[in-house]
Amino acid sequence: MIELYAPMSGRVVPVEQIPDPVFSGKMMGDGVGIDPTGEVVLSPVDGEVTLVAKTKHAISLTTPQGLEILIHVGVETVGLNGQGFIPLVTEGQKVTKGTPLLEFDSMELVMGGATSLISAILVTNSDQWTIMSRSSEENVEAGKHVLYAVQSEGEEVIQENTEDGELVCREVLVRNPHGLHARPAAQLANAAKQFTSKLEVCFNGKRGNLKSTVSMMGVDIGPNSRISISAKGPDSKVAVDTLVALVESGLGEELLPEGDTSPMVDQGASGGKSHCCVEPITPNKTTTLRGVSASQGFSVGVSYLYEKKEISIVDEAKTPQEELFSLTEAINQSKADLESLIARAKKHSEQEKEEIFVAHYTLLSDPEMIEASEERIKEGASAGRGWSDALTHFCSIFEKMDNPLMKERAQDIRDIKDRVLAILYGIDQSISMSSQEPLVLVAEDLTPSEFTEIVDTPDVEIGAICLAQGGPTAHVSILAASQGIPMVVALQNRILTVQNGVECIIDSTKGEVTLYPSSDAYKQACQRVENRKSSWDEMVAAAQDPITTKDGVPVIVAGNASSAKTTANAHAMGADQIGLLRTEFVFMSQKSAPSEELQYSFYSEIAGAMEGKPVIFRTLDVGGDKPMPYLPLPKEENPLMGLRGVRNCLSEEAQELFRTQIRAILRVSPASSRKVMIPMISTLPELREAKKIIEAERVALGADPIEVGIMIEVPAAALVSDALAAECDFFSIGTNDLTQYIMAMDRTNPLLAPKLNSMHPAVLRLIDIVVRNGKEHNTPTYMCGALASDPSTAPIIVGLGVTELSAVPPAIPEIKEVLSKMTFERCQDLAQQVLKLHTFQEVQDFIYKEL
Ligand code: PEP
Ligand code: MG
Repeated sequence: MIELYAPMSGRVVPVEQIPDPVFSGKMMGDGVGIDPTGEVVLSPVDGEVTLVAKTKHAISLTTPQGLEILIHVGVETVGLNGQGFIPLVTEGQKVTKGTPLLEFDSMELVMGGATSLISAILVTNSDQWTIMSRSSEENVEAGKHVLYAVQSEGEEVIQENTEDGELVCREVLVRNPHGLHARPAAQLANAAKQFTSKLEVCFNGKRGNLKSTVSMMGVDIGPNSRISISAKGPDSKVAVDTLVALVESGLGEELLPEGDTSPMVDQGASGGKSHCCVEPITPNKTTTLRGVSASQGFSVGVSYLYEKKEISIVDEAKTPQEELFSLTEAINQSKADLESLIARAKKHSEQEKEEIFVAHYTLLSDPEMIEASEERIKEGASAGRGWSDALTHFCSIFEKMDNPLMKERAQDIRDIKDRVLAILYGIDQSISMSSQEPLVLVAEDLTPSEFTEIVDTPDVEIGAICLAQGGPTAHVSILAASQGIPMVVALQNRILTVQNGVECIIDSTKGEVTLYPSSDAYKQACQRVENRKSSWDEMVAAAQDPITTKDGVPVIVAGNASSAKTTANAHAMGADQIGLLRTEFVFMSQKSAPSEELQYSFYSEIAGAMEGKPVIFRTLDVGGDKPMPYLPLPKEENPLMGLRGVRNCLSEEAQELFRTQIRAILRVSPASSRKVMIPMISTLPELREAKKIIEAERVALGADPIEVGIMIEVPAAALVSDALAAECDFFSIGTNDLTQYIMAMDRTNPLLAPKLNSMHPAVLRLIDIVVRNGKEHNTPTYMCGALASDPSTAPIIVGLGVTELSAVPPAIPEIKEVLSKMTFERCQDLAQQVLKLHTFQEVQDFIYKEL
């Protein structure tokens, strides 16, 4: 028996009284309605999100026992195309009872044309589950009251027979004004259930079970979509004919006029994705968008919206032998293309590029992917359809993974999928553009192949790249960083509404993109880029030595690194030391916990790359937004406030992992080159416990003493930094986390990105407190969060008393130059003035004026 809790507060409405025949007639399943008084939908059970409707008005969940639930907010809400809804979860996400799923604005729904707000909470596989009891309450409170309880009927009742009978496949155009949304999908599923054949709908590379409304909704079939309906089994022919006729009839809805191919939703800029709910960028109005930095740098240029050519797959198939032959030919051609790309990368010593294309080459030979495609083709699919379906399936497996590094591998599969399809259908994806000015390339997302093609386009200079989606550890981000092209990702769809030719300033260190800047600001930015270009070699040469301010106060400018390669880069850029080695990358790239020997050799390689200059090894910082496959973390409502960093390392389950890491660090020689830093300290007892472990391991190894510092990234630690300073060797401020916890704004939430800024007075004032407390005990304060990588704010941070800035390698030369041209007295004066300000805007204006 499973109990479903009320997902929203409000009046209970029997399903028969929901003012929509699809629900009242139980076509989509049995359940209950709620006339909501609140505007948040909570998960009624523990389960996985299996669908977030493209139009955001409906969400489906599946419990581990196989119960499928649909929550459909309001009636006639599909037509709002998402307006008034904010989904709070994504497909594939695991949720627990009470997890907020969706927010909506009742007023906007009513104004937008919803005929009722009564929402249906249905069991969509009610042929397998029976509702045993329903709430007797008139009004329920979200998450508090049980709405109804269901019991399993046992084995699945639908018997499918695919043994006898041929595979039949037909295409049909969906002319329903909102595509196959809940109502027509339910009608179609009900009709499909009378057949014993296996029935599938296919569109845009996605496949759905025609007997399941939710599965069909997950295929995202919009208006004017040409779908294919396929059946395999004894009644396949009649099933396909019946269902095609039903789709043609409109499934009870008035159809778009014939020949009207205009979709109901705005096709937007990129590949038909809907941006209709996005406030477009106003021409000639200065607008700053914030995303996530994927490749650091500062740049200017004019916008160019890159639109990928759509590949439409031909479903008509010749014999399986012929289709298999075509696919093999296309794969072989793709491999040959990749071979020449690999050879070119090798010739130009472009190691990252070479590695990525080698990985693609290997993927193209993956037996499982090839086998899955061949199977589809043998079932009667065309070469393109077979390949696309198989790879889309593998993509979705990767996309659902928790580990962000694995998740982003989906992009690589998409890349090889498109590469082969483009060859199969003879589509030329190369771009035609020319410009005297550097281009700021704007796109929804880019694959490594597209990136290479664009960057290698003759006579075009790419000044920066702005992606609506993407992730900082995606291969394309690594490529951009390796070529020194600033890139900001996760800017959301609003960036896609920019027109071509708009002047932009990109400050990717801050994750900022400014469109339509004032002419003064643009001129200044151009000047900065020009100065940097003309003096870059000199600047890098000058950065090789330690610096002091103009009046002789030494400032250490260190580098952040995570691998031997980034360490070597930091060293080349003039890093005085490594101020933050994010060791979690050696852990995240392994399938099981790395041994002491493996860690020792990794850490020694890093120390070697710095040629004796010190390295601060930060101990394992996993949990929160950095999950790790082999360290099973408990399911947490708020992982960012859960078992993160040192809390994890001190837990019983992970303590051995921590001890192993400490031993590996302590073995690095020379001893003078290694320091250790503990992340996420929030209390003094935590510091004491961690130090006790470090000391015990040191004594056992007979190793030389090691400096032990802590990250100050939790407000509690900042506020008790007087006590902490007495018991550690240095502080390093992690502004990324410190800012998120001070502001109570999740650093991974793209909706909050525009408001999350480390130069907020609240953050600066807390830094001031930390530095002062540190000084009382002669404990120096360093900084290694992203704020330390910004040359324009470096004088203020140094003026606050921070003695070491640990920055991303490309920012090091400019930071050194800026600081060596300014007196410490001036830095202090600027800092004192900033501490008096009240808002981030005031701080920003001040920097603009003074620096
Ligand atoms: C920080 O929080 O500022 C920091 C440097 O740590 P990370 O970004 O790795 O969490
Ligand atoms: Mg941190």
